[in-house]
Amino acid sequence: DRPPPCGVVIFGASGDLAHRKLLPALFALHRRGLLPPAFFVLGCARSPLGDDGFRERVRATLRARFPDRPAGAVRAFADRHAYLSGDYDDPAFYRRLGERLAGLEAEAGTGGNRLFYLAVPPGVAPRIIEGLGAAGLAREEGRGGAWARVVAEKPFGRDLASALALDERLHRVLSERQIYRIDHYLGKETVQNILMFRFANAIFEPVWNRRYVDHVQITVAEAAGVEHRAGYYEGAGCLRDMFQNHMLQMLSLVAMEPPASFGADRVRDEKVKLLRAVRPFPPEELGRWLVRGQYGPGGTGDDRVAGYREEPGVAPDSRVETFVAARLLVDNWRWKGVPFYLRSGKRLARRVSEIAITFKEVPHSMFEGLVPAEPAPNVLVLNVQPEEGVALSIQTKKPGPKSCLTILSMDFSYRDVFGVEMPEAYERLLLDCMLGDQTLFLRHDDMEVAWSLLTPVLEAWAEERPGVGEVYPYEPGSWGPAAADGLPGADGRGWRRP
Ligand code: NAP
Repeated sequence: DRPPPCGVVIFGASGDLAHRKLLPALFALHRRGLLPPAFFVLGCARSPLGDDGFRERVRATLRARFPDRPAGAVRAFADRHAYLSGDYDDPAFYRRLGERLAGLEAEAGTGGNRLFYLAVPPGVAPRIIEGLGAAGLAREEGRGGAWARVVAEKPFGRDLASALALDERLHRVLSERQIYRIDHYLGKETVQNILMFRFANAIFEPVWNRRYVDHVQITVAEAAGVEHRAGYYEGAGCLRDMFQNHMLQMLSLVAMEPPASFGADRVRDEKVKLLRAVRPFPPEELGRWLVRGQYGPGGTGDDRVAGYREEPGVAPDSRVETFVAARLLVDNWRWKGVPFYLRSGKRLARRVSEIAITFKEVPHSMFEGLVPAEPAPNVLVLNVQPEEGVALSIQTKKPGPKSCLTILSMDFSYRDVFGVEMPEAYERLLLDCMLGDQTLFLRHDDMEVAWSLLTPVLEAWAEERPGVGEVYPYEPGSWGPAAADGLPGADGRGWRRP
């Protein structure tokens, strides 16, 4: 579907997210013919750029990202961009914004539909919403039935109390139907495919439960370190940065009950219900359920890699975790007793995101005397990053006169099968905002239940209460601290090596 006419207003238009993700995603949608016929972008920031200066930056961003595109096409697209600089705390800025929008809307014929994207540091976003609200620019239903929607970027608070306070400020101006809390992992094809895979095929759902599944592992590993984000990361850490959002979102999609329909609220009802069934971590023995780590220095000479505490902007005695592994249990009929092992970290062995469902072994093996006598269990891997696809390992006979078993992987890669360039997550999510589809966005209770689960952990860690466990150092290029092996290890299992 092509969305209705609308204008996109990006706050923080001079920033990293805008130039690395949002503007390229909009251009990619334009190339695919998926933008509304009447459309404009208004960039807002404090930097004094002007329309021409911003367009020049847009052109530079798009030329670097899409070197094969004709200069004329890039220029024509950049010409649909305008710019307004100002101070977000000044009511006069919103008056000028209103005037500018009215002019652009009349020129482009967008009918007053507005998508506001908050690509600004977290503390700034609520002030912008309040400014928009006071100036009457973000009414749920404007003149002639025009809509206003707001995309809010993570982080949504830093614990339960601050997330609820942030939500309360947003809700003073906006209804929940106007708020699009974005988690870009939900825009990835494989993550969306979890629902299609599970609920559009009859063969998986019957085995998707405690009778057949031995355990589930979710890994989001980065090879890079903290890079230029130390300022943010020192106040966040891995649990807030990855678990509160991406990890728990993937968990809920893989483990939730079938929704009655693909409607936004039916899907989100089931995700929230699943998260509510996750057993809270016992505060007095957290170290047995969660292991946190921090990468130390590694290598020598030219290959030396700085440890986290040596990175620019990081405190030399920082105890911020760059790795978390967790063991979760879901207390419902489907999953009772099936462990979910989740881990995420920086400076790990490779960049990979995957969800691996390991099935139980056959109840009785008749292949005694064969090699191997005990067949390996089937594993279904949903590859999220870097190569999106699905792989199922099965046991098969090795060709030859002798009876030997071997493991065969039935692999499906999106790129190979569909032969198309994979859309970036932000493309899908921006399109859904314009279409008014909130399925892939977090609802307020989704966010609240995730924080309810993790806030007690953050508090126990902050106070270094007894039983919380160390911040274990780990080697760059490893799979995290050895202590993390104890989580599946305590159940007689081990981590996968993706
Ligand atoms: P950024 O580059 O640090 O900041 C975006 C823009 O905000 C800057 O260009 C700056 O523009 C403006 N800004 C900075 N400090 C400000 C302040 N105190 N008051 C008003 N404006 C200020 O941030 P970003 O990386 O683009 O991220 C934007 C948001 O997206 C953040 O909430 C971040 O957590 C989230 N996010 C980013 C990424 C990513 O890949 N970058 C990924 C996920 C989520 P002016 O100085 O010109 O006003």
